[in-house]
Amino acid sequence: MTSHDLPAFRELFDNLRFSGLSFTPPKDRTDQALATYFQALEPYPFHAVKQAYDTLQHGLTKWPAVSQWVQALPKHGLGMGEMGMMDWRQAKEWTEAERLFYEGDPCGCADCILANVTYLPTRYVPCLDANGDTIPMRHPNKPLPVLRGEWLHGFPLKRWYSARAEFYQKLETLKPGMKRELETTR
Ligand SMILES: [Zn+2]
Repeated sequence: MTSHDLPAFRELFDNLRFSGLSFTPPKDRTDQALATYFQALEPYPFHAVKQAYDTLQHGLTKWPAVSQWVQALPKHGLGMGEMGMMDWRQAKEWTEAERLFYEGDPCGCADCILANVTYLPTRYVPCLDANGDTIPMRHPNKPLPVLRGEWLHGFPLKRWYSARAEFYQKLETLKPGMKRELETTR
């Protein structure tokens, strides 16, 4: 997907939000959730994302995790390889990140000091492989594959925040009324 697909993606996202699922992201997390989902699904073409949405919609009672959406993507032509099992360390970290909504405490490590980001919450994001694709993996305690992730520190964390700022800017220019909505939900 590209930024041109954002309004259409937002529509799918909002349809899901208002379809009465349990565990829908709270209102003040909506924009963060939208950004996270868009970033994770960005490597895939919109028609595949839409197809996954159509598949997901049937039989969902709970808000789908990013990994569920990725897993629902049509396999054909997406180049998904064989899926590995997370080791207990990865699985524990992943579960903790999910519990924290992918946002950790600010960090004072050498990397974060160097990049001057010690005042910003750390972020857990999907890892990308050499082709820039997310890495679905089997989680020992989850019925569906999840995306392998990592906590960002230092300059990568700084870049994540600038990318998110750009993302919000794109959103605001794409949809009239968006700015007001963002301000009230922040
Ligand atoms: Zn750090």
